[in-house]
Amino acid sequence: MMEHPENDSQYIGLTVNGGVPQPPIVNPYLAKRPRRKPMPTASELVEGILKGDITSLSRAVTLVESLSPEHYALAQEVIEKCLPHSGNSRRIGITGVPGAGKSTSIDAFGIHVLKDGGKLAVLAIDPSSERTKGSILGDKTRMEKLSVHPGAFIRPSPSAGSLGGVARKTRETIVLCEAAGYNNIFVETVGVGQSETAVHSMVDFFLLIQIAGAGDELQGIKRGIMEMAEGIAINKADGDNVGPAQLAQAQYRSALHLFPPTASGWRPEVLTYSGYYELGIAEVWEMIDRYFAFVKENGYFEAKRQQQARWWMYETIEEQLRRHFYDNPTIDTLLKGAEADVLANRKSSFTAAQSVLNQYFKDFKD
Ligand code: GDP
Repeated sequence: MMEHPENDSQYIGLTVNGGVPQPPIVNPYLAKRPRRKPMPTASELVEGILKGDITSLSRAVTLVESLSPEHYALAQEVIEKCLPHSGNSRRIGITGVPGAGKSTSIDAFGIHVLKDGGKLAVLAIDPSSERTKGSILGDKTRMEKLSVHPGAFIRPSPSAGSLGGVARKTRETIVLCEAAGYNNIFVETVGVGQSETAVHSMVDFFLLIQIAGAGDELQGIKRGIMEMAEGIAINKADGDNVGPAQLAQAQYRSALHLFPPTASGWRPEVLTYSGYYELGIAEVWEMIDRYFAFVKENGYFEAKRQQQARWWMYETIEEQLRRHFYDNPTIDTLLKGAEADVLANRKSSFTAAQSVLNQYFKDFKD
């Protein structure tokens, strides 16, 4: 040990000793801990997914959600390989305004579905950044019983982005979950009008959760959403609220009568239930069972899935074209100039649009 000059007799009274030995900088526990495994190959992931391994499934979903181009290619390979093993599930969309009781109900419906065995994946589409940020913890605690059920896989919405992008990722996650043996898929969305079309294009049955006595009986739910629903379930039919819930049921039933017949031939049903007190859950589920029996019998089930697959093909093309156009820096500059011309009345909207497009097509040809 180094001798300290302060220990010389001239500095009597001042003694400096060596101090304690320095502990290693790296926590020995961390050094011993196994390092995170390198990224598995597509085949390894698929093998894990097909065995129902949650870690492989979660890693593949993370790849699907990733924005990195390198992950994108790997994710697409995994999806392609899982595709032949997908499709064998009931895909159910669940929507309702915030506070309608979606999470409480999903918890109750989920436990009900899992009583018969099988597995359930709960996914979400919520492009609003606000909720997505906290929802990993949020969704788990919102669904108390499901979150600890071994047959349930709960995945929050992919983080914020364009609605099309977020929805595409959820749709791809459905494929992965089905390949992993999840035969029930719930896709939750906040019923405020934007995400519903996207959800509708990936589910077999669309359930609209409503509540009675919240002012306007349509509760800001656009007519279009009601038209998409195969079933309306009025929640919180418990205690003093049973009467108002039944009244709302009658109102919805008569409102639905005014709608044109559905393409499937199915007449949407309106039921009341209580997610919190678990009343009427089985009845809602019987309605869903009836629907599946009906559309499987008349061929609409298959037809709708095919139509959805086609819709997603065009949706993907449109999304990529849009991105290719708007992400181009030259186009970005041209657009700013064109916009100024239009606002100053120097060019019509159409001429301005045409001049930007001409440049784009010209660049693209070169
Ligand atoms: P979400 O925002 O649609 O997911 O709604 P939540 O499931 O978080 O529920 C919103 C509030 O309504 C919570 O305070 C729940 O306890 C309550 N709630 C949900 N379902 C019921 C129900 O069936 N009956 C009653 N009385 N309250 C309920």
